[in-house]
Amino acid sequence: MPELRVGVLALQGDFEAHSRTLRQLGAEVSEVRVPADLGGLDGLVIPGGESTTIGKGIAAAGLEPALRAHHEAGRPILGTCAGMIVCDAEHLGFIDASTRRNAFGRQLQSFEADLEVTGIGDEPLKAVFIRAPWVERSGPGVEVLASYEGHPVAIREGSVLACAFHPELTDDPRFHAIFMAMITSSHEREEAAHGQR
Ligand code: GLN
Repeated sequence: MPELRVGVLALQGDFEAHSRTLRQLGAEVSEVRVPADLGGLDGLVIPGGESTTIGKGIAAAGLEPALRAHHEAGRPILGTCAGMIVCDAEHLGFIDASTRRNAFGRQLQSFEADLEVTGIGDEPLKAVFIRAPWVERSGPGVEVLASYEGHPVAIREGSVLACAFHPELTDDPRFHAIFMAMITSSHEREEAAHGQR
């Protein structure tokens, strides 16, 4: 197994819980705050928190060009909750989908649900939603991996995986395992391309 280097954007929000889960899956994890932190990463997590604050933090740190370079190189990105919003078509545009902030309304601010998720086996995933968005629109290239009451809450397009819930807040690492599998394939592709030179 190659050592996979995964960065977690650590401007705001619950990045530490992601780091724990990723380490549990064998990744070498580092925190990303400035553009140089993105160098040499195989994958990147944009965590939950507050999407407006994270967006402002990206601008203030001058991180956008380095994030785009990471994305354009085909290196996987996982956006969770606010991180999914930051990746959507109205923000960084990493995934051809539009999200609705705080979509579940006041009554359902925070809740847990058992979700069937494509690619993690038959056992449902306990998903924690906290003032979560849902996916309002998604393009033809976007695969819906899970829905809640008819609204997509986990999606994937190419190298980008996004979910409305907080997979880092439970002991179940299966959602992060999907991401690690994406990183393994992209890492192997890059190694093969280097080998051919
Ligand atoms: N409600 C937040 C937002 O719109 C997202 C909440 C979260 O990440 N838990 O940015």
